[in-house]
Amino acid sequence: MGTSFDPTNDPHRRYNPLLGEWVLVSPHRAKRPWQGQSEEPNNEQKPSYDPTCYLCPGNTRVNGEVNEKYTGTYVFENDFAALKKDTVQDGEDSGLFRFETEQGCSRVICFSPDHSKTLPELTDEERFDVVNCWKEQTEELGQLYTWVQVFENKGSMMGCSNPHPHGQVWAQKHIPSDPAKKVVQLGEYYRENGRPMLLDYAEQEVAKQERVVCQNDHWVVVVPYWAAWPFETLLLPRFNVQALHHINDEQGKALASIIGEITARYDNLFETSFPYSMGWHSAPFDKQEHPEWTLHAHFFPPLLRSASVRKFMVGYEMMAEAQRDLTPEQAADRLKALPTVHYKKNEKSNG
Ligand SMILES: [Zn+2]
Repeated sequence: MGTSFDPTNDPHRRYNPLLGEWVLVSPHRAKRPWQGQSEEPNNEQKPSYDPTCYLCPGNTRVNGEVNEKYTGTYVFENDFAALKKDTVQDGEDSGLFRFETEQGCSRVICFSPDHSKTLPELTDEERFDVVNCWKEQTEELGQLYTWVQVFENKGSMMGCSNPHPHGQVWAQKHIPSDPAKKVVQLGEYYRENGRPMLLDYAEQEVAKQERVVCQNDHWVVVVPYWAAWPFETLLLPRFNVQALHHINDEQGKALASIIGEITARYDNLFETSFPYSMGWHSAPFDKQEHPEWTLHAHFFPPLLRSASVRKFMVGYEMMAEAQRDLTPEQAADRLKALPTVHYKKNEKSNG
């Protein structure tokens, strides 16, 4: 006793107001020696076109369909869809045994015809096309379903089997569990404060500059105060907006630019194609007004120490609550210190 709290050394818990959950921060653990699993990153240069890739333009997929010879973004129904629009309507609620059938759809979104390029390696114009594609999908599917989930799994560590730059959009009749928690949490904050929580949060983070990784006139990327994954970030608008398709062209271009920045910083951190799951949370399409909601995107990357050593959410995390090793401020400092020029471009220009 007598010494004061040191967030970089003393175990503590932080509250995640978005989900109403806590995360255990154990910063001193980052010093421990590592003898566990390491995974070899695949840094070999990929070809622009791969004849065996089921996402490349003009190639045939397993179900026999042939991809268009697309030149920009390209969307098609997932051949192994997790959700189907014509699933029979049924359900049962008998005490401990309760189910409901789910209707929906899942689509694949190719970001580029170029097999070798990921989001940080595309141009701002190409990323703007991706943003517009996300907007169109959100608007179209939002007219049919209650929840529209735009996301990207990048890298084999995140279970993505194909390196071709692509994401997915799933839409469904019911609001899934995590977004449903957010409806409650954001609603409570809005009733108490009369303002959207995430708009307040973005403003306060911009003022503090302790966890901001990058920002422009319209958007800010922070390692959230309550981040669970080592280099997790939250991408927030600095204006009031509930859904992806409501952003205008200027905001969309600024978004394309900041996505380029954060994903380049990620790749530069360990000079590898940085794996992550990222996704967008627009307000539910449940025919209600959602003044409490702010559009936002999460990046959840698994890497911790290097291109080959990842963070596992096991044991304590599975049994108790999320736990992290370095503080969110330390993670933000490291990301912020990195250049926004992609390391592969640097290698090229250095000969
Ligand atoms: Zn491909």
